[in-house]
Amino acid sequence: MQLQFCGGARTVTGSQHLLSVNGHQVLLECGLYQGRRSEANEKNQHFAYDPAALDAVLLSHAHIDHSGNLPSLVARGYRGPIYATSATVGLCQLMLRDSAYLQERDIEWVNKIRRRRGEPLAEPLYSIEDAEEALRCFVGVQYDRSVQVAPGVQATFLDAGHILGSAGIVLEIESGERKLRLGFSGDIGRPDMPVLRDPQPLPDVDALIMESTYGNRLHSPANDVAEALVLAICETAAGGGRIIIPAFAVGRTQALVYELHKLFDQGRIPDIPIFVDSPLATNATEVFRLHPECFDRETYQRELLDYLAFNRPDQLKRIFLVHGEPDQALALKDTLLSQGYPQVDYPAPGEIFSL
Ligand SMILES: [Zn+2]
Repeated sequence: MQLQFCGGARTVTGSQHLLSVNGHQVLLECGLYQGRRSEANEKNQHFAYDPAALDAVLLSHAHIDHSGNLPSLVARGYRGPIYATSATVGLCQLMLRDSAYLQERDIEWVNKIRRRRGEPLAEPLYSIEDAEEALRCFVGVQYDRSVQVAPGVQATFLDAGHILGSAGIVLEIESGERKLRLGFSGDIGRPDMPVLRDPQPLPDVDALIMESTYGNRLHSPANDVAEALVLAICETAAGGGRIIIPAFAVGRTQALVYELHKLFDQGRIPDIPIFVDSPLATNATEVFRLHPECFDRETYQRELLDYLAFNRPDQLKRIFLVHGEPDQALALKDTLLSQGYPQVDYPAPGEIFSL
């Protein structure tokens, strides 16, 4: 039983974690590495394993740093299932097509310059056809239902409260006499966020791959955020100004529009029109409408570390911190060690661990 951290290791984007067990390979996430064009191209074009040899891919949520390199994976020979919640499948249909469109436009711009310089033309990382091919591999699963993804490997998706459809995944692994419960947090949502349910901790796992973005700071409570929004809007509206809010992440725009409507209803902000200037955001809102099963019903306070509430240090023997810059992850590692968790690793890219 082996884990290799092929991407999203010691950095935030490009998540890819490879589980090898019983002679089979299961990939967790296939995110796009986002950075300088040349470095990003290099990383996104080359996989640390043979895509055609994978048995299954599990996807925690639709954000591009987790899903965005799936078209490349399929273009390089992967033909197996990509398991994700139904809402994630819906969002990926928009986001992977949108990502392919952006790749194609970006390369047009690059080629304009290359043509002028008499240099050979470049190909996009992937095309819209590649994205369509990847979408055909998706298999929608429900929360809280176990599904066999490879011989001896059962996966259960639990709500991560991060964006619509987001999940943490529990893998129940059997290898000969050995049984191991491996948790993968995906991105962990904040409690009390509009629309979404609170994150559901992964219970009783023996080892955990845990995201560590913002592991070095405590978020301010969501109520303070609403208060800050009220203040900014009232001040600007009183002065006759316009408010432009850059909300680029899918999920963020919907949360903002929802929050604004709540503030209108409560009479806390003046009744001013909202314009959403993004076709992707408008389409994503439609996916939200189609998946009310993901909406929250209750709200209660829970901090990032409470995610581990059901995993006391004597049971959870290993934690792997991924998806975080060093300052973020190392602060979280210190806290976890001080709380008595025996082994907390911060894997380097490509590093392999035996479980
Ligand atoms: Zn995310």
